[in-house]
Amino acid sequence: MVDLMGQYSKIKDQIDKNIINTINSGKLINGPIVKEFSQNLSKFLDVNYVIPCANGTDALQIAFMALELQPGDEVICPAWTYVATAEAAAILGLIPVMCDVDSDTFNITADLIEPLITKKTKAIVPVHLYGQSCDMEPIKNLGKKYDLKIIEDNAQAIGCKYTFNNGKTISTGTIGDIGTTSFYPSKNLGAYGDGGAIFTNNEKLAEKIFLAANHGQNKRYHHKIIGCNSRLDSIQAEILNIKLKYLSEYNSNREEMAKNYNMAFKNIEYLQTPKVIKNSTHVYHQYTLKILNNKRDQLKEYLSENGIPSMIYYPIPLYKQLAFKKYVSDDFYLPNTENLAKSVISLPIHSEIENSNQDYIIEKILNFYK
Ligand SMILES: *Cc1c(COP(=O)(O)O)cnc(C)c1O
Repeated sequence: MVDLMGQYSKIKDQIDKNIINTINSGKLINGPIVKEFSQNLSKFLDVNYVIPCANGTDALQIAFMALELQPGDEVICPAWTYVATAEAAAILGLIPVMCDVDSDTFNITADLIEPLITKKTKAIVPVHLYGQSCDMEPIKNLGKKYDLKIIEDNAQAIGCKYTFNNGKTISTGTIGDIGTTSFYPSKNLGAYGDGGAIFTNNEKLAEKIFLAANHGQNKRYHHKIIGCNSRLDSIQAEILNIKLKYLSEYNSNREEMAKNYNMAFKNIEYLQTPKVIKNSTHVYHQYTLKILNNKRDQLKEYLSENGIPSMIYYPIPLYKQLAFKKYVSDDFYLPNTENLAKSVISLPIHSEIENSNQDYIIEKILNFYK
């Protein structure tokens, strides 16, 4: 699905040198590079504070902790997302309230969120799924109307931009109160291990986020709150600091692959190519098709027989997972989410377009529909 070795081979000299230097420096935890990378990322995103942490799931948990959400508080999140979004809420005793998604953009919308708001609702967690921003302006307005916090799960959309109706364009993850991301190796900005980060423009929140991620301390052995231990290590920060320089190029290569797929598939009746809202760019963490004639599983099988990887993100809606059953009634049903679980398929897409064998993939898919 991705070509991490191809990507590595182009930056190997810098990466290897910096890893060895870090090991020799002995500053494996909280080395100066962690701060340097955080500063570079905050420039890239144009956000005041970037607090690094151990992974994208921790980033979400730390965001909820920093907002001082309490057990029993309701948090609205998509039912159509990676498990981490709802899991990070549930582990703190918050109630994940599952929202259906738009069947064309795969994202939650203000219209789908508003009916779910109750007296107990404290926050909304938009996930910019597959690399495209949710339509954030109406969601921000809902947040204002009902006094709700907004935590953007930006794990799949780093580098994506959203434009408000007044023309102002900003990076996803910097639109709400807090944004979170993951540096899992296959993400658009991936480490060679685990990593994550939390963004905010609010100084007070930044301080709380920092405390929550660092045992509640900003001075060693002085613990102000109960926190957790969630660090980005120096070696991962070195790798990310190098890759950050190429992130825009990586994202535009992904976009080029997406355009090639879109062109090739535009006349196939039963394939719906990704729909992009006018206010958002798309960084194509995934290139996800909707198969409209119930032949998704046959297509997947056929691709596999032809040596082409494909993935279903996600095969089972969150509310059908055993772990989340207690949050919903037995007959809980979200029509768009159910339909997507049966009809989506994601094709290989990554930064190494020249190694992608994309023509072969396209040829095989066109053959399937002949
Ligand atoms: C990858 C991902 C996460 C979790 O990131 P980890 O670093 O694996 O903990 C959270 N939310 C979404 C939408 C993701 O894609």
